[in-house]
Amino acid sequence: MFRTIDALEVKGKRVLVRADLNVPAKDGKVTDTTRIDRSAATLKELAARGAKVIVLTHFGRPKGREDKYSQKLLVEPLAKAVGQPVAWADDCIGPEAEKVIAALQPGGIALLENVRFHPEEEKNEPGFAKKLADLGDLYVNDAFSTAHRAHASTEGLAHILPAAAGRLMQAELEALGRALEAPEKPVAAVVGGAKVSTKLDLLGNLVSKVDYLIIGGGMANTFLFAMGKPVGKSLCEKEMADTARAIIEKAKAAKCHLVLPVDAVVAGEFAENAPNTVVSVDSVPDGQMILDAGPASIEAIIDRLGGCKTLVWNGPLGAFEIAPFDKATNAVAQAAAERTKQGKLLTVAGGGDTVAALAKAGVEEKFSYVSTAGGAFLEWLEGKTLPGVAALEVKPTHSGCGCGHKH
Ligand code: AMP
Repeated sequence: MFRTIDALEVKGKRVLVRADLNVPAKDGKVTDTTRIDRSAATLKELAARGAKVIVLTHFGRPKGREDKYSQKLLVEPLAKAVGQPVAWADDCIGPEAEKVIAALQPGGIALLENVRFHPEEEKNEPGFAKKLADLGDLYVNDAFSTAHRAHASTEGLAHILPAAAGRLMQAELEALGRALEAPEKPVAAVVGGAKVSTKLDLLGNLVSKVDYLIIGGGMANTFLFAMGKPVGKSLCEKEMADTARAIIEKAKAAKCHLVLPVDAVVAGEFAENAPNTVVSVDSVPDGQMILDAGPASIEAIIDRLGGCKTLVWNGPLGAFEIAPFDKATNAVAQAAAERTKQGKLLTVAGGGDTVAALAKAGVEEKFSYVSTAGGAFLEWLEGKTLPGVAALEVKPTHSGCGCGHKH
């Protein structure tokens, strides 16, 4: 259980909002405002409710104060997104920030300079968190994508000020909760991508949570190899064969059905439109590499999804960047989107290249929820506790002293 901004009385209060406005920029101009636009809902709502809204965010990985990482360039696009002027403070703590916040009227919005200009931010130094906390009465975290980091503005503040999740964080937590914490069963997971070695924790967690684990992409080759199949010159982590076998055993014990490709699209090189053929996974030729799942595999996966109510997706099923090896990813994504549209399947996806792969398949808007949180989404799939989320959890009220505080 986590608190949302519904639980906060914000009128006239100074509300520190940790947003994720870490947008791409070139020559001092923001090139993609998606994150700013998505963050606007919480800021607008708080302003409309009479809060003095103070936005904290980071930009890049500066080493101390570095002008090229200044967030001043965000003022204009943020003002546009929220539909009102945004005040600017040249520092996120101290007299400069205090002055700007003191001048803020209820309903006003201010943006403070990059929190990472202070190395204490990433060290989650209590003294720095206190300086940030001194600027506000309440704390709202709307940055799920940085919730896997215990920094002062993403975690420390929640222990000092009354804290709640903003609307974006809330939407993300609700979508993720519906997908893995209390999902409608049967649940399937599609896990693809390049390497098993980068997704060990994720696979280990999913086998104990889902009914069907559908494995594709380069990592399926390692599983096929571990099962004694020929993989030619495919991308394959042969040294991970034992690990793959351990995952197969763990899945069996957990009654999770592993779904691996039964056929493959193979080519002589990793290149767009490389001449290719479809072969059984029992007969991949020596000089060839697996670049996509074949038609029988696609059919089997779509068939499986037909019986499922929930789908979690991370990683492409093949080399989706180079046609025609994007076929399996596109076909399965489109089938999942269709079932989502029919109200038969809840689809939650995210992490790494997944957003790009689903966008290329034309389904990014058609899934129930596509997370752009990257690392935080992956850590959540791995079953890890995200410190920024844990800090927002509502703990049972202390009954002994009747003080009403959280303990
Ligand atoms: P990840 O970042 O782990 O999700 O991996 C995504 C990458 O895996 C993409 O760049 C794909 O091209 C690559 N990939 C997927 N399937 C294969 C394959 N069969 N062979 C080589 N690379 C693949």
